[in-house]
Amino acid sequence: MTRDPRYDILFEPVAIGPVTARNRFYQVPHCTGIGWTQPETLARLRGIKAEGGWAVVATEETEIHPTGDCEPFHEGRLWDDRDIPAMALMADAVHEHGALAAIEIMHHGGSAANWGTRLAPMAPSARPIIYHYPMQARAMDKQDIRDLRRWHREAALRSKKAGFDIVYVYATHDLSIAQQFLERRKNDRTDEYGGSLENRARLLRELIEDTKDAVGDRCAVAVRIAADELMGDAGLTHDGEARDVIEMLAELPDLWDVNISNWPNDSQTSRFAKEGFQEQYTSFVKQLTSKPVVGVGRFTSPDTMVSQIRRGVLDFIGAARPSIADPFLPKKIEEGRIDDIRECIGCNMCVTSDYTSTNLRCTQNPTMGEEWRRGWHPEIIAPKKSEGSVLVVGAGPAGLEAALAAARRGFEVHLAEATAELGGRVTHESKLPGLSEWARVRDWRVGQLERMANVSIYRDSTLEAEHVLEFGARHVAIATGSHWRKDGVGRDSGFAVPGFDGTSVYTPDDLMAGRDPEAGPVIIWDDDHYYMGGVLAELCRYAGAEVMLATTAATVSSFTAYTLELMPIAKRMARLGVEVLPYTSVTGFGGGAVKLTSVLTGETTERPAGALVTVTARLPEDALFEQLRDRWQEAGIASVTRIGDCWAPSTIQQAVYTGHKWARELDETPPLLVPRELPAIDPGRVKAEW
Ligand code: ADP
Ligand code: SF4
Repeated sequence: MTRDPRYDILFEPVAIGPVTARNRFYQVPHCTGIGWTQPETLARLRGIKAEGGWAVVATEETEIHPTGDCEPFHEGRLWDDRDIPAMALMADAVHEHGALAAIEIMHHGGSAANWGTRLAPMAPSARPIIYHYPMQARAMDKQDIRDLRRWHREAALRSKKAGFDIVYVYATHDLSIAQQFLERRKNDRTDEYGGSLENRARLLRELIEDTKDAVGDRCAVAVRIAADELMGDAGLTHDGEARDVIEMLAELPDLWDVNISNWPNDSQTSRFAKEGFQEQYTSFVKQLTSKPVVGVGRFTSPDTMVSQIRRGVLDFIGAARPSIADPFLPKKIEEGRIDDIRECIGCNMCVTSDYTSTNLRCTQNPTMGEEWRRGWHPEIIAPKKSEGSVLVVGAGPAGLEAALAAARRGFEVHLAEATAELGGRVTHESKLPGLSEWARVRDWRVGQLERMANVSIYRDSTLEAEHVLEFGARHVAIATGSHWRKDGVGRDSGFAVPGFDGTSVYTPDDLMAGRDPEAGPVIIWDDDHYYMGGVLAELCRYAGAEVMLATTAATVSSFTAYTLELMPIAKRMARLGVEVLPYTSVTGFGGGAVKLTSVLTGETTERPAGALVTVTARLPEDALFEQLRDRWQEAGIASVTRIGDCWAPSTIQQAVYTGHKWARELDETPPLLVPRELPAIDPGRVKAEW
């Protein structure tokens, strides 16, 4: 296939100070949950992005000094020369595939608690640390500022030594010290670093000048800055102080990388923002500078990308999540393989990796975070080593991915689905308010499968044990999913809840199948704590019902703190008039009332309720597997394996992952359960300076 000439503009080289990017695809700095803890893992992950065609591949935040230590988050670390080899590993992996390596050196200032180093945090002025951590940053004196500039300069020199081509000065996400100096609400200094905007921008200017002076001969110097904080005059705004700062420093750096701050604003999910959502805040920057501008907006459509460039909004298509969901996005556009692009669905499962300090995971890309430890490549998969066909039962995310990965290995694949529609839970859930983009999990896989000659798909085909035994497949994957239980058993109660076996009790499956609670008010019992309870509250509200949502947590959808959606969901509930009942469990239902028990006092009350939607837990749909359990060996089948929710109900990401893993491991020597990177022991057994 050849590239559509309309997209040629995306493949023009662009000069960034002393270096040149081969095209306009720019993987902006993004967290991985890996950071300094697993250098091989990280280097391979970033190297694959370069192989996939990104012209620039950046690190995550990289700490320059132990006074700005953001444990328990795993970010990059360049505290001293001993950190250079690990960072060089990544720069080398990126260079191997012809891309430029960028490093986002930074100091957290008043945004990190220094849990690890136990040193006092420091900030422009005395302020509490974010995340409600119970410590405060001390106000920096002049010597602290001089020290900070020296640490930044030394880190820039180390970056150059490690081989990086672009060195950042970081001033966004409300996480970096340079931004904290800019913010009026965080800077009440009375010296030349406080007061007027010019004074508050002094540190940023100095850091840019220092970095240029230190490494500017060979490295480009980029500034990542907040174009808006979405808090009006209390923060930086695109038509106020952010604009003025960028205008003031317009020609100083070699590149402007702009976004909206803080991270929840920058990485909004598809439930709250669509592709290109940042344009209204960032488009002014190019009018102020002749330097190249990078911006983000969960770009996956080449037409949108071209439009941004042609309209003078951006010079580079910045991407974090789209590069995670498809590290080969640029290559696919370059080769005219638009239908092969695996588009990000905007679920932020990747963000949960950072918040849980675990290897980067992605709903759409099961190889993410497994590049080094399992040797998985997003585009390459080992050919099959045996003859015989594969039967996959169930076409939800697990079954679709299993079928696709097995087919890519060259197996003859048969995929049977009980219903007329493929996609399983993704098809149902994508019809819920705000979740339409989740259908991409299905659509990309079905699109791929339908083009493969070695794949047969059978819709409306409920398989029973006899069918499977007679089918003649060598390997069988049971991907029959799960269903929401109705009896109330879940996290809060290990026992069935009185009244849940009565009428007017609905599960999420009922609502997704179109059964509307007929009588109100509706009580949603959210014992699940992820998105489902909140989304169903929206659904019932849009249908006109009066809605209450009870949760034992302090807030609605509490797990979404890890997907950056906690506040947006809480705000939506409030604006829709959903009454959230925190610290409350549902302990009975019937007779037109719900019984509520306070988890704080044990007090029980009753509220009128005509319908109950119970969101507690799911049960595997594993009857077919049980029927096959002791019979398949005799039928000459080599393996029957449960995957996805049928094995253990979990996230869509985990369903896709287990389907992929199953296909990768067919006929392979059983790998280690979890290969891992071991910490290296310093041969000299020397204590580092810090
Ligand atoms: P997962 O998340 O594990 O992929 P889903 O619940 O999304 O699970 O999908 C399971 C799919 O399996 C559903 O589309 C369902 O209709 C289908 N299914 C369940 N039982 C059978 C069966 N016996 N034969 C064929 N398909 C089945
Ligand atoms: Fe996109 Fe979700 Fe993958 Fe993150 S986890 S890159 S949001 S698909």
